[in-house]
Amino acid sequence: MTVRVRFAPSPTGMFHVGGARSALQNWIYAKQQGGVFVLRIEDTDAARNKPEWTEGILSALDWIGIARGSYEGPYFQSSYAGEHRAAAQRLHEGGRAYYCDCTREDVQARTGSQYQGYDGYHRDKGLGPGEGRALRFRTPDEGETVVVDLIRGEPTFENKLIEDFVIARGDGSPVFLLANVVDDMTMGITHVIRAEEHLPNTPKQQLLWDALGVKPPVWAHVPVVVNEKRQKLSKRRDKVALEAYRDEGYLAEAMRNYLMLLGWAPSGDREIVPWSVIEEEFRLAEVNPSPAFFDEKKLRAFNGDYIRALPVEEFIASCQPWLTGTDTIAPPPWQPAEFDSAAFAAVAPLAQTRIAVLSEIVPNVDFLFLADPLIDEGAWAKAMKEGAADLLDAAIAAFEALESWDAESLKSTLEAVGAERGLKLGKAQAPVRVAVTGRTVGLPLFESLEVLGRDRTLTRLRAARVRLF
Ligand code: GLU
Repeated sequence: MTVRVRFAPSPTGMFHVGGARSALQNWIYAKQQGGVFVLRIEDTDAARNKPEWTEGILSALDWIGIARGSYEGPYFQSSYAGEHRAAAQRLHEGGRAYYCDCTREDVQARTGSQYQGYDGYHRDKGLGPGEGRALRFRTPDEGETVVVDLIRGEPTFENKLIEDFVIARGDGSPVFLLANVVDDMTMGITHVIRAEEHLPNTPKQQLLWDALGVKPPVWAHVPVVVNEKRQKLSKRRDKVALEAYRDEGYLAEAMRNYLMLLGWAPSGDREIVPWSVIEEEFRLAEVNPSPAFFDEKKLRAFNGDYIRALPVEEFIASCQPWLTGTDTIAPPPWQPAEFDSAAFAAVAPLAQTRIAVLSEIVPNVDFLFLADPLIDEGAWAKAMKEGAADLLDAAIAAFEALESWDAESLKSTLEAVGAERGLKLGKAQAPVRVAVTGRTVGLPLFESLEVLGRDRTLTRLRAARVRLF
């Protein structure tokens, strides 16, 4: 039997990191089993779906390493409406489903405080189809439904506690629960690896598989992803969109490594591991069923480690989208003609060890490409205290006299200027740094001045001095 798994997102918003995690787990499982990964876009909720979300899913998957063309699909659930209806009809004809026109209020009026869902009122009334009549699945009165779940063992559900649930609405349209099963059947899915949120649906879905006469798949419900307050990650409250992380400058390799650690760990005492090791070592059965904490701080640190491990040329290439702007990344504050790739290459190794996400490259190097630095007024107020004017005067004079404009000479010169005033180097640097870069923190100062050059450095120091009069 060829293993066939599927990833079945609904295109109703940005691509959720939890979805990306499930997609990767499906992807690896298929690869390990010599199986097939199917992508199905569950687009039947016409009111909430938008084509651009589908494109977003495809490009986000591509980014994370599930490349277009390397899987089966995408299939679109909406193209299978005929199959969904036919299955509903088959269930009705086989006596496994019946029509019912009760409203919730009707049921509540009958059952009062005993209300526990639908009471089976129309089970044996033999109602035919008609406008406003929903089709309900006749669940077995006895026995249990045992779900075989690679992560959770065998969750068992008592059939008598499962209400006769709706499979097609009053207007005849099949509900998601049924469409999802019929599609999995049509596509020959053998393993359903999906988020824990769907577990409550699983016994109902398995009953549908049985009733339709097909062996149900093996299930694996991967843990819900939560924030630091142990709340399920929500798109209204938390940063959940994979695209947002991508555009902020997380590396795809770091992101997918981190996502795979949600509920699982590779062997040994390590977390940062090559993708090939993850593909080899990952075991669905080892996934911890408890909620997995998506720790953004840890991810950031992780990404910093990945950035530092890049060969410098690759780091430079990876920074390009932030140095130029793209359709989703805002352009930098300088004009394209102001950018100097040699100057960038000179400071890139210094930046590489200091930034955690690639977008941070921009505030670290903008002083090199802008005619005037962007002065952060808070930084200015902090650095330009008493004595700053005198220090700048002395620094300007000493820098003007420098024979060789290199980081080492600049450093020893400013050190001497500071010492004459009883200032340690750190204190002496502050006004110079703010005058030249506009900020209190950034790349090592003297290397920055060396790359910026004598003329531009002196111009900025003089301009700051004028401002202090
Ligand atoms: N379309 C569903 C979702 O996005 C997935 C259902 C499934 O994986 O079975 O949550």
